[in-house]
Amino acid sequence: MAKKCIICGEEAILVIKGTNDVYCKNCAEENFDDISYLEKIEEPKPADTIIDDEVSDEESEPKE
Ligand SMILES: [Zn+2]
Repeated sequence: MAKKCIICGEEAILVIKGTNDVYCKNCAEENFDDISYLEKIEEPKPADTIIDDEVSDEESEPKE
């Protein structure tokens, strides 16, 4: 689940270190002169557990 910017509700890509305050890039740049306070949100993507009905033929692999 993507986090939402706490200001505008857009998809957040940055988080203040040690907090749950997340921002999109625009809001981060507006609110912080130095966005080095922020770190990129790392979205864990457990590819093995994602079930995608529209997976392309090239990527589909038989599962047991
Ligand atoms: Zn925002």
